[in-house]
Amino acid sequence: MTANDHSETSPVRGAGWIDAGGLLGDKIRLVFTDRRGGVSSPPYDSLNLAYHTGDEPRNVFDNRMRVAAKMCVAAERFIYLQQVHGVRVARTTLGDLKGSENGLDAVIAETDGVFTTEKGVVLSVLTADCVPIALALPSAGVVAMLHAGWRGTIGNIVASALDGIKRETGLDPGEIKAVMGPAIGPCCYEVDEGRARLFVEKYGEESNVVTGEGRRRPDLFRANLINLLEAGVRHGNISRVGGCTCCEGRYFSFRRDGVTGRQGAFVYRVDEECENGSG
Ligand SMILES: [Zn+2]
Repeated sequence: MTANDHSETSPVRGAGWIDAGGLLGDKIRLVFTDRRGGVSSPPYDSLNLAYHTGDEPRNVFDNRMRVAAKMCVAAERFIYLQQVHGVRVARTTLGDLKGSENGLDAVIAETDGVFTTEKGVVLSVLTADCVPIALALPSAGVVAMLHAGWRGTIGNIVASALDGIKRETGLDPGEIKAVMGPAIGPCCYEVDEGRARLFVEKYGEESNVVTGEGRRRPDLFRANLINLLEAGVRHGNISRVGGCTCCEGRYFSFRRDGVTGRQGAFVYRVDEECENGSG
């Protein structure tokens, strides 16, 4: 049992970032950036999108502007999260875009997931090994973006998001589509016995979420796949793109590099076609 794997051969992967909106539905844009194409110096080279890493704020600002320009979206349309490895998922609207600190992107405090039913709001998470998970229900105009590290996975931020979407919109999770982006794979993610035990307690031995020598290698993709299926998302609607952030040098990886930058995952409902064609 695996997610529909587009990570190796997919037409969605170009020479640069991964553009995978087609996996979620018409008029939905889903972009996973990597570390290339920015202005930051080592160890943040070069497209670091996170201010909290220790990078020069001016460079992070420039990098975020580059992403906005390449995505052909105004920088004021971006919602970022102050991610805390929790399971809180907030609903957001165009109204949240007003009054942001730098007059550009807005930040929602202490939240690891966000959803909206409005066009023109770009939902973001930043990662360097954790799993970015995009959700969409195109017929109802819902999009969501989640950040699932080991805590968010075991705590089940996927269920938290689908509960929130269902409660606030009355929608059926069965129609939801999900895409997991680049994150650390079990090839590189070895943990201590205590953490491994938490995964086994949550998913059971037979799930094979934890494998490897001494069963110390949790598979975050598999765990979140189980979370999605248990929440009612259909298997055929779940995809995965991008590879292992730790194996592949084009990504930032906290496990591999320690002090490093963060790549971005962005989802939004397309408001209008990009006029300059650079998207
Ligand atoms: Zn790996």
